[in-house]
Amino acid sequence: MRGTGRRIVEESRSLRVPDILAAFAKAGYSGSAIPSGPRTATVGFGPPSQRSGRRVSFRLESTPQHFGGVRWWFVCSCGKRCTALYRIRDGYPFHCRQCNGLAYRTQNVSRSTRWLLRADKLLARAGCDRADGRYLRPKHMRREKFRRLVGEAETYDLAAFATLLLTLRPCLRF
Ligand SMILES: [Zn+2]
Repeated sequence: MRGTGRRIVEESRSLRVPDILAAFAKAGYSGSAIPSGPRTATVGFGPPSQRSGRRVSFRLESTPQHFGGVRWWFVCSCGKRCTALYRIRDGYPFHCRQCNGLAYRTQNVSRSTRWLLRADKLLARAGCDRADGRYLRPKHMRREKFRRLVGEAETYDLAAFATLLLTLRPCLRF
């Protein structure tokens, strides 16, 4: 069996196991009758009037419960079982809370660090040091070259700063 039919979710940034089970139940599957393994569901995002369905793949897995029956989980791409999947913004993949917090953060932090280092290198080539607070052109360097190096460095600085700001957003959300 593939798919659970259409489901409209107002909150477009999370998927929860009970919601998915309810969708399965509507399609005639419930409890342990749901085959485990990869499932795909068509999830409609946005207001119901728009009905803009978008296919989202996710993996479901069941574990036996103490007093009978099974409990259902999402399996994140990191292998962790969880009851909800999140994404930091529309169009991004769904992950568990930890992956969203860590993967995106470290990815962004390392990227902004890389850009800061690149800016440092360009400034060094221009004969400047951040510690000076302002950029002075060495007498032997052509104006044009100096302007280009510092301009490039400032672009990387700005990009690094913007990336760090983006990094803070998912942290604040959860
Ligand atoms: Zn994960």
